[in-house]
Amino acid sequence: MPVLPRAILFDLDDTLIRAYAQPEEAWTRLLHIFSAHLDAHDPATIETVRAAIMGEARAFWNDRAEAAKWRLDIPGARRLSVRRGLEKLGRPDEALADKIADAFTEMRRQEYRLYPDAHATVDALRDAGVKLALITNGAGLTQRAKIERFDLEHRFHHIQIEGEFGQGKPELAVYRHALEKLGCEACDTWMVGDNYEWEVVAPQSLGICGIWYDPFDAGIPANAAAKPSRVIKRLAELVE
Ligand SMILES: [Mg+2]
Repeated sequence: MPVLPRAILFDLDDTLIRAYAQPEEAWTRLLHIFSAHLDAHDPATIETVRAAIMGEARAFWNDRAEAAKWRLDIPGARRLSVRRGLEKLGRPDEALADKIADAFTEMRRQEYRLYPDAHATVDALRDAGVKLALITNGAGLTQRAKIERFDLEHRFHHIQIEGEFGQGKPELAVYRHALEKLGCEACDTWMVGDNYEWEVVAPQSLGICGIWYDPFDAGIPANAAAKPSRVIKRLAELVE
């Protein structure tokens, strides 16, 4: 076992479980199912619809205040993105947009997967005496359902969900509260997650070691405001 800190904070979505990663592929697959409704009979037209929807989604997820609001209603955010996307293409259709958005939400939900080394890594850290917290953004009910489905609750000393706590990452109050609950100092704590802004830059500003989880080998963003303490491609690297 390598040298470990007193506490580790884990992100949930796309860190312990695969949830929303690689949306391009998922949207393309979903839009093929709706090709007749969309009058999109070739890959290029599907691609145009996908780009319009994802462009609209990106626009409001990039707005910090809007994003904080919509994180608590991801299905609603999807409906809005698809409505705006179809509108942008000059063919507004709210009923069809909602149907497509809801089908995407359900397809993603069915495809959530625990990363294969997640349980073993978390359990090994806990057995080694590390205090563990799960810190996740999103609505209470949505995130609790994932935590139950993937048998995570008993593995953590503290679970903190944005919708229940009232604030989400990257607000510094989120990390401060977690440290207080675990009774640990920032300098003796790691945060592990896939969101560079939320799980590297923000916690490092408090003195927590930000460990960036980069399973798809995306590489550190060119304009990164901080360097992670470490980059891992598999969770098991934490205990090797
Ligand atoms: Mg994440």
